[in-house]
Amino acid sequence: MIFDKIKKIEVEVFSKCNRRCNWCPNVALDRLKENFHMDEETYLRLLHNLKDNGFKGEISFSRYNEPTANHKVLQKRVRQAKEILPNNYMLCNTNGDYLRRKGDEILDGLMLDELNIMDYDCRGIEHGKELFKKCNIKEKSKKGFTGNQQAKYSANNKLIGEYKNIKIVHYYADWPKHHQIETRGGFFIDSKTGKPKKVISNYGNKGVEVPFKKNATRRKHPCNKPTINMNIDFNGVVNPCCHIRSDNPEHEKYGLGNINEMSVHEIYTSEKAVKFRKLLMSGNWQDYPDPCKYCTKG
Ligand code: SF4
Ligand code: SF4
Repeated sequence: MIFDKIKKIEVEVFSKCNRRCNWCPNVALDRLKENFHMDEETYLRLLHNLKDNGFKGEISFSRYNEPTANHKVLQKRVRQAKEILPNNYMLCNTNGDYLRRKGDEILDGLMLDELNIMDYDCRGIEHGKELFKKCNIKEKSKKGFTGNQQAKYSANNKLIGEYKNIKIVHYYADWPKHHQIETRGGFFIDSKTGKPKKVISNYGNKGVEVPFKKNATRRKHPCNKPTINMNIDFNGVVNPCCHIRSDNPEHEKYGLGNINEMSVHEIYTSEKAVKFRKLLMSGNWQDYPDPCKYCTKG
């Protein structure tokens, strides 16, 4: 089965994010004003298509939206995914804003396996403990847990908990102080100089420069992300990786197809997708497309 190779699907069930973090392309690509939802029929067709093609990997409900901004919709979409693909690992990231406001109303009935809370405001570890209490998340020992995201985050800046069926809840304290950012498909690269733009934190540690991973140097190695990931925007566009997004005009041409018009199987096996994967796996870095030139991912 061709989907055996795919390890992770990212899907935006709607578009909205309530923040504009300076380290995120949402700072200029608006996700704040309107909330566009993925059509339910399209979403269910996607899940069935994944099942029919033997997909056995992670489903992440995070891309450039804030998944808990509409928790009822998130809960329903995760439930539907669990019904159709019961053995797949499901997770999402959150900025925690709605958890702070609504507590465990967000979590009750959310059938995720993993939830990652990012402390973008640098409120610290004690705030994380309070938030866990407010949301009835039971703190667990950190021993033996790395999670499958942000695994290098030091144990002192991280909390681990569980909530009913959510097996792992991570809280990443002081995120902007400990995290190095990516160029996001060239979004943070100055096209004239080929150098990364200065990114200054606008939350928590306001005014402090956020560093780029590996100084955002020219990429010369292959990339397997388009082979092992599928990244689906709220409008149905399937992108080759997490950095490429259809609402960035610079990225529009890299969309591989739309699940409103084609099955994910047709998209993944299309000439365009096969060619893109081949180029990125070839290591012919002089020919890499613009979004990949200074990418340090993978
Ligand atoms: S980093 Fe997260 S919270 Fe911040 S703008 Fe991007 S999607 Fe929203
Ligand atoms: S190298 Fe290109 S395809 Fe790979 S993760 Fe970076 S932007 Fe995406």
